[in-house]
Amino acid sequence: MSSTETVLGAVTDIVGNEHVIADEAGRNFYSADISFEAYEPAALVAQPGSTEELAAIVERANRDGFAVLARGGGMSYTQGYTPSRDRTVLIDMRRMNKIREINTEDMYVIAEAGCTWEQLYETLGQSGLRTPYYGPLSGKFATVGGAISQNSVFWGGGSYATVADSVVGLEVVLGGGRVLHTGSWARNGCNPFLRHNGPDLTGIFTGDTGAYGLKAAAAIKLIKAPEFSLGASFSVPDFAASTAALAELAKYGVASEAYGLDPFYADVMVRSGLEFLADHPWSIHFGVDSVDESIAQAGLDLLKGVAGRYGEEIDNTTVNVFKSNPFGAVQSVLLGPEGELWLPVHAFLPFSRAQEAAAAIEGWFEEIAPRLEQHNIKTSLLTAAAGKDFLFEPSFYWFDELGDFRLEKIAPEAAEEWKSIPADPETRSVVLDLRRQMAKRFDDLGCCHIQVGKYYEYAPLMEDETWKLTQGIKQLVDPDGLVNPGSLGL
Ligand SMILES: Cc1cc2nc3c(=O)[nH]c(=O)nc-3n(C[C@H](O)[C@H](O)[C@H](O)COP(=O)(O)OP(=O)(O)OC[C@H]3O[C@@H](n4cnc5c(N)ncnc54)[C@H](O)[C@@H]3O)c2cc1C
Repeated sequence: MSSTETVLGAVTDIVGNEHVIADEAGRNFYSADISFEAYEPAALVAQPGSTEELAAIVERANRDGFAVLARGGGMSYTQGYTPSRDRTVLIDMRRMNKIREINTEDMYVIAEAGCTWEQLYETLGQSGLRTPYYGPLSGKFATVGGAISQNSVFWGGGSYATVADSVVGLEVVLGGGRVLHTGSWARNGCNPFLRHNGPDLTGIFTGDTGAYGLKAAAAIKLIKAPEFSLGASFSVPDFAASTAALAELAKYGVASEAYGLDPFYADVMVRSGLEFLADHPWSIHFGVDSVDESIAQAGLDLLKGVAGRYGEEIDNTTVNVFKSNPFGAVQSVLLGPEGELWLPVHAFLPFSRAQEAAAAIEGWFEEIAPRLEQHNIKTSLLTAAAGKDFLFEPSFYWFDELGDFRLEKIAPEAAEEWKSIPADPETRSVVLDLRRQMAKRFDDLGCCHIQVGKYYEYAPLMEDETWKLTQGIKQLVDPDGLVNPGSLGL
């Protein structure tokens, strides 16, 4: 069995000394996500600059019995990139951030997996173009490869659903370092203009949380960048009304984004200057994008008519502020308004069960209220429509040590103020327990998850034949089980 030193030497030969991290602090920093769940520190961290280097690292590491896994911006919290075993080479993808091609005739862009959503959005904007889904709120740091591997919702997701729906083809490094393409990209001499060139092999690699391979690059559809973004906000009486209104709005497929905020988020907004929200603890917000102003206006009027059946129109500054700086809200999502840590759990479900789930979540929060109060843990409830699906995201907030990862993502003055908040392992363990309980409740309600990683239950909830197929694919793409072992429960 090869030693870490042997693999370290080989990987250093591939990427150069400056692109390998082997010290203990560095290995721990890259191996931990913000969920505080257990992980094994990687043996080393490698930063390839090209598909060739990536494939060579995977080939060499796997040959020597080392596992490999990819880490993008590290913004996830479901143990997707946390190693489950020692002898793992963690691959930091962020050097692979080139935009290889913008094809304005066939309307696709090829971006390397380590490109951030902000970089992609800004680069395409210079040519008056956009991808249909155009990134998560974490897109200042989150990468194209990370979002596609996790699957992801938010910007553009009201009408274009999750990121997976915008992908046309992928370049993937499989176990042992083999490289393949999907869609028409896989046809000799063909460009990635068509996703369904035969069966949808692209789909297999989306939402796999890295279990089936390391994405080197993605071809994503292009649209003309909408020049007109109009937004509206409505105050609604309660969570049930918010859920019902969003479920109804989503059916039209017109909103670019549609989401609901609760009293916790209203308070966050009030503190950031949107005082009028103090009178509107529950609210929904939506936008309509178009290249034509009259189309945007007609869409907005239609949705306002729907929302008006559930509540009363209010100032639309919230939706406009968010939209004008799509990747500017990282700090206000990553932390509570006083520097509290944030840890969410989410569930996807069909509209038909949205009300039942809304009632169950509210009921459970009431049940655990004494425990929350005892430990000064706060909660929030974000809801959003992703295409025709419905997303609930309850979150927990508590005071605890921020750590280097969070501190480097927030404004320097906030980091200075909050860096001395002490660690609170006791409250943290209560949050981790409640978060697991919440995930279990969602499973009992028949909900599904994106971002499965090593956190959410997957295999035990699947039909036998489907799970066998999932395992069979793993056997083909990663026969030695050395690509992100444990992810998706594989
Ligand atoms: C403040 C904040 C806001 C957020 N907002 C949103 C939001 O609006 N919508 C949303 O959906 N999520 C959101 N998230 C969650 C998360 O940021 C996103 O899911 C994001 O897409 C993760 O991208 P990443 O590059 O950071 O991936 P990482 O966290 O680095 O990795 C995620 C998973 O993908 C795998 N992976 C990464 N790169 C590759 C690759 N090249 N090949 C194969 N596997 C790979 C990893 O192994 C891991 O399993 C948010 C998180 C934070 C902290």
